[in-house]
Amino acid sequence: MSEQSKDVAATRRTVHYAIDAHGVVTITFKRDDGGANRLDEETIHELEELLAAVEGRGELSAVLIRSEHERIFVAGADIKRLAESVHGPATDRDDLKQFIRRGQALFDRVMELPVPTVAMVHGACLGGGLELALACDWRVASVAKVTKLGLPETQLGILPAWGGCMRLPRLIGIDRALAAATTGKQYPAKLARKLGIVDLAVEREHLDAAAMKLVARGKRERSGTKRANLPGVRTLIGNIATNKTKAKTRGNYPAVERVIEVMVGGLTMTHEQVLAAECEALCDLASTNACRNLLHLFFLREGAKQAKMPSEPTRDAKTLERVGVIGAGIMGAGIAQWSATRGHPTVMRDVKPEALAAGMRTVNARVDEAFNRRLLSRAEREAALARVTPSLRIESMRTADLVIEAAVESLDLKCAIFKELADVTEPGTILATNTSALPVTKIAEATSRPNAVLGIHFFNPVHRMSLVELVHTEHTDPDLLNDAFHWIKGIGKVAVVCADRPGFVVNRILMPYLIEAGHLFSRGTEARLIDETMLDFGMPMGPLRLLDEVGLDVALHVAATLSEAMPGRFSVPRVLQCLVDRGALGRKSGAGFYLYGKSRGKRPPEVNPEALQCRAMPDEGGMSDDVALRRRLSLLMCNEAMYCLEEKVVADPESIDLAMVLGTGFAPFLGGPLRHCDTRGVAKTAEQLQELYESTEREIFKPCALMANTSCIFKS
Ligand code: NAD
Repeated sequence: MSEQSKDVAATRRTVHYAIDAHGVVTITFKRDDGGANRLDEETIHELEELLAAVEGRGELSAVLIRSEHERIFVAGADIKRLAESVHGPATDRDDLKQFIRRGQALFDRVMELPVPTVAMVHGACLGGGLELALACDWRVASVAKVTKLGLPETQLGILPAWGGCMRLPRLIGIDRALAAATTGKQYPAKLARKLGIVDLAVEREHLDAAAMKLVARGKRERSGTKRANLPGVRTLIGNIATNKTKAKTRGNYPAVERVIEVMVGGLTMTHEQVLAAECEALCDLASTNACRNLLHLFFLREGAKQAKMPSEPTRDAKTLERVGVIGAGIMGAGIAQWSATRGHPTVMRDVKPEALAAGMRTVNARVDEAFNRRLLSRAEREAALARVTPSLRIESMRTADLVIEAAVESLDLKCAIFKELADVTEPGTILATNTSALPVTKIAEATSRPNAVLGIHFFNPVHRMSLVELVHTEHTDPDLLNDAFHWIKGIGKVAVVCADRPGFVVNRILMPYLIEAGHLFSRGTEARLIDETMLDFGMPMGPLRLLDEVGLDVALHVAATLSEAMPGRFSVPRVLQCLVDRGALGRKSGAGFYLYGKSRGKRPPEVNPEALQCRAMPDEGGMSDDVALRRRLSLLMCNEAMYCLEEKVVADPESIDLAMVLGTGFAPFLGGPLRHCDTRGVAKTAEQLQELYESTEREIFKPCALMANTSCIFKS
């Protein structure tokens, strides 16, 4: 390293610089604090200074940009910095503009360097990180699993505004660029190579050699126009993308429509014009509620990494290594597969040999699926499978550090299992139940070690759902709760800690909404109107379809548990019981509110004539006003979320919103039921609930008392 480069490097904290004897400059992202590389004010400032140093040198032959972080090239722009402008007053548009323009100018300077430039990508290369890489002449990516390239901005309600909307379509064609930007997909290196996002995909140790190969190609010549970018073609592609997007987002995610507009429109603009369009669009989007709420969610996810315990643990978390799973059904097999894939030796026990065999087939199928989707290598697949041991004996749980019970939903059965487990396992073993709605306290009290019993409630399907409700009782040892929290985090799930209240958080808030959908149908409201209205609201699935997916018997059981615990508030709709009595249990039995044939393709299912016969008051005609319908159903979720807050089911409102978005897909652009309550106004929400309460005389609509003395739930 030359004297000058040493001096320059010595003053940097986020990005470093070196030049070799051949004039090859290497700019390396490496934060002194070891944190994730990101484009915050400090990094941008340091990059500006480094570029000035590079630009001022005469004897250069190439510039390489790399990272020293094990998992991150550059993760993107600093979201906190962005949020400062977004959450601030309207005048912050100028501040945001300045931040965007500064990044654009910086990346233009990278693009204009007179020597070949190469981004050597290893680890996450996302958002602004990919935009920086796109400003280079060439890109090489490591084929390591941690390497992912993408533009996830629309998931935060914004769009790429550091030249990404301009450079990506020109590089790979508008069709592929739109697919990347509208979905926010993160591509592994080989796929990115196939799509043309990177020029080479190599093993990490060959990055240097590959970069020098690319340097040898010289500055990148502007290649001819991509076929997809030709005038007639790009308009057609743009229109198709817009229609597809509108059908999917129902107009709730303005960023997705705007990114199409800027990318397609940008193809006929000058360089400066596209940058200006990107900047304007981002400033507009930043002031939308969707963006504010999606940022809110981003920070909720970040916050969930820290445990929010009811009482402080007295020691550091212990590592829970060996896992036992009781029950090899849908949930047991799913939990065993996930635990084993995440490195835990796992014993799965069932009482029935045929159920155990079926559970092992499920484990195999899920592991194979992960392998086929390239989430696991061949060796990892073999290792994961080798970690699962089937067993018919309870004694096989003896050496487990953590046992998770996922047997059938019966309190008597669970109490008996836990009593036995407490006797057969070591004193330190954590005993967890996956129950959906049964009282964990009662299960704990049936054992000789109630302090070791807690709830670890996974959602179905386990491999897709990231939420886990971690339930404590009054007896639960805070240290064991903390151990379980870290185990959940370690297997890549998000734990929301909640008290042992009926339905915990997610089922508690979801059930009034599902039950009301059942009542509305029962009184003559069209099934399709109910479901379509809530799809428009932003739910991923209509409530009647969701009931069918969950299983009407399961829903009935949870509804009954809640109405038993809170009599007068929850009343089970007749239609639900009637359908279950007729054996129509939802999708799994081929019929519920809808009929599920085998070869329906993408056509929506027909309404089940039996469901129509099960209506309690079919002649009432039901509701036809979708606005009133949407308000009624969504208010119930806001109200119940307030009850959860009032009853201290969780420590804070953030946990409720996060649980609902992760556990049910509650409209992310609304930020969760409590955030939604804030947006519409707490007082107004209470007023509308009161009106419904008075007109229906049903307790479920009675506004939670906490609303009366809450003006705003979240500070920002
Ligand atoms: P399931 O019926 O698919 O499987 C239950 C399994 O437990 C069966 O294989 C049965 O043979 C076995 N079993 C019964 N008694 C046993 C015992 N004494 N020891 C060992 N195994 C025994 O049920 P599931 O859907 O996997 O649900 C399991 C638990 O998870 C329930 O408490 C349920 O409420 C909860 N849960 C289910 C879902 C869901 O969507 N299915 C979601 C979250 C939580």
